[in-house]
Amino acid sequence: MSLFDKLVILTLPLVPRSLVGKIASRYIAGETLDDALRVVQELNGVGCCATLDVLGEFITRKDEAEAAVTEYLLALDRIREQKLDANISIKLTMLGLKLDLDFCKDNMRKLLRRAKELGNFVRIDMEDSSCTSDTLAVFSELRQEFDNVGFVMQSYMRRSLPDIQEQMRRQKQVNVRVCKGIYVEPRRLAYKDMAIINRNYDLLVQRLLENGSYVGIATHDEKLVWNAYRLIDKLNLGQDRFEFQMLLGVDEELRDLIVSDGYKLRVYVPYGKQWYEYSTRRLKENPAVANKILRSVLGMG
Ligand SMILES: Cc1cc2nc3c(=O)[nH]c(=O)nc-3n(C[C@H](O)[C@H](O)[C@H](O)COP(=O)(O)OP(=O)(O)OC[C@H]3O[C@@H](n4cnc5c(N)ncnc54)[C@H](O)[C@@H]3O)c2cc1C
Repeated sequence: MSLFDKLVILTLPLVPRSLVGKIASRYIAGETLDDALRVVQELNGVGCCATLDVLGEFITRKDEAEAAVTEYLLALDRIREQKLDANISIKLTMLGLKLDLDFCKDNMRKLLRRAKELGNFVRIDMEDSSCTSDTLAVFSELRQEFDNVGFVMQSYMRRSLPDIQEQMRRQKQVNVRVCKGIYVEPRRLAYKDMAIINRNYDLLVQRLLENGSYVGIATHDEKLVWNAYRLIDKLNLGQDRFEFQMLLGVDEELRDLIVSDGYKLRVYVPYGKQWYEYSTRRLKENPAVANKILRSVLGMG
């Protein structure tokens, strides 16, 4: 990251909320479930499936977690009513991971039970390294009770390869989204060299696919998409073994190319009132976009 990019990130809090909102509208479906369902319908219309994410994380009160459960239950019902091709993605800290582990598991059980009745699936997002062990422990326990649950591995984490080996040993086949990882982690826990992160990404995808697991290949990095194409071809894999995944509003051209190559592509559709926190995180992740905002604020472009 260049010095200027770092400066852009530091000055981000000074950017007016309305301007962040303007940029956010590209990455976020809106504030309400209706907004999100409208976007999912459009995506289904162009051959993509979706996963709904209710914005919010690291809640501090149990009633906030209960409200999130209610919202997700409603989302599952509306997906069915409207015959949409979508599942849901959840951050465990939104369901109380940091408050009370049993409470969090029970919240997940409510969602998994309803999703199961509706023939749907729940993905547990992976959050920062303070959550990794608990998230995997919750997944492992719930996987004994439900087969419609999956988790996420981040290729920047040094522990990810042993973690998937452990999960494959316990569960035989798992359903895993592989991504690079979005949080800022210390070097002792996470690779910092992008070349290593990318090679580890390929390695995780390869190990999972070779093992017969279902893989959500979540990236906008065309080199990684190409590597996955080659591997899918080499292993002669059917469409029921993997899908590509991308974030709403990011590189729609690549998204359309993957769809036109005949592959399944799922778009991550965040919605909710907490759009400001989510957007600033996205902007920090991609200073090039933040850079554009700053230039427009300063009247430079
Ligand atoms: C479906 C999905 C689910 C995810 N779930 C998680 C999760 O549970 N936990 C987690 O830690 N991370 C998650 N991520 C985020 C992920 O870890 C990466 O931070 C993010 O996807 C960027 O990595 P990349 O593979 O696209 O490669 P990069 O090398 O970062 O990006 C490749 C190209 O895409 C562009 N690009 C990437 N992201 C953006 C963006 N936000 N805005 C504009 N352009 C962009 C870059 O500019 C670059 O040109 C998820 C990502 C996706 C696609």
